[in-house]
Amino acid sequence: MVLASCATQTPKTKAPVPQPKPKVEKVHPTAPPVAKQPAPNSAKPEYYNVNIADAAKNDNTISYGSLVAANPQGYVISRTYFPAIGQNFRQRYLILHYTALDDDKSLTVLTQQSVSAHYLVGTQDDNEIYQLVDENKRAYHAGISSWRKDAQLNDTSIGIEIVNRGYTADAAGNRTFYAYPEHQFRKVAALAKDIVTRYMIPPTNVLGHSDVAPTRKQDPGPFFPWKRLYDEYGIGMWYDDDVKTQLQEQLLNFDLDKTQPTFITNFQQQLASFGYDLRSTGLWDTPTRKTIEAFQYHFRPQLADGNLDAETYAILLALLQKYPAK
Ligand SMILES: [Zn+2]
Repeated sequence: MVLASCATQTPKTKAPVPQPKPKVEKVHPTAPPVAKQPAPNSAKPEYYNVNIADAAKNDNTISYGSLVAANPQGYVISRTYFPAIGQNFRQRYLILHYTALDDDKSLTVLTQQSVSAHYLVGTQDDNEIYQLVDENKRAYHAGISSWRKDAQLNDTSIGIEIVNRGYTADAAGNRTFYAYPEHQFRKVAALAKDIVTRYMIPPTNVLGHSDVAPTRKQDPGPFFPWKRLYDEYGIGMWYDDDVKTQLQEQLLNFDLDKTQPTFITNFQQQLASFGYDLRSTGLWDTPTRKTIEAFQYHFRPQLADGNLDAETYAILLALLQKYPAK
């Protein structure tokens, strides 16, 4: 029997939402507020920004015990290192999931089937976290995935699976998600802090499965407290509240005409610029609605309905301002 997991759970298809007819004749009197973009960073490759080589540790890396070297027959690999500046960590993303299974089934599926993750955080209120895959090896948790200029994120990420029921859906397709107990959140946060610190994973690269595969995935869902992860542990992205409020006030005075193809195209480009894999079609198509929903799961979890409202848009603009794509 093949058990379901976050890697296989698929949402029930909702009835398509009618598309408003584009009003091509209407022209906006004023342009929508656009977040200020700072000057682009220098073209210096990221691996030169920080020299992770540390000859003093005779380790060539600041990560724990990751020294793996050849042992060719009849030759010696010199242990006096000449650490190169041109290196970085392969582990550049942290991706969070829920398993949509109970503890036992999560462990079975993630160790005995084709899907896996580096770590599994169960529901027990104790101090134990399971490691299923060595951090230097690739786990199969993200599937077809992308963020900003990167794709196939299994190659460059650490995956954490959290035991959580996921969601149940009623006949109309409305989803009910399940909360994370405090002790489980603390485990995930401590683990994430350790990983992000060791590999210097930037805030823009701490993501949910739904961020990197928005048309397929909902995990870790709207109950994962990303804001607390940011506020209490300094991990991942969050917007500045005053910037968001200011942008939202501007948007209330602006006619948010969501029927304009030019507006929709611009908005789709902004979502893509932030990181989501979304094509600019000028239409409120299914990928766009699912991407809005994924964005809301992460950044506006109080109402994740896939509809663009002023608050959702203000949050996106505030985030674009704070974390511009390089
Ligand atoms: Zn997942």
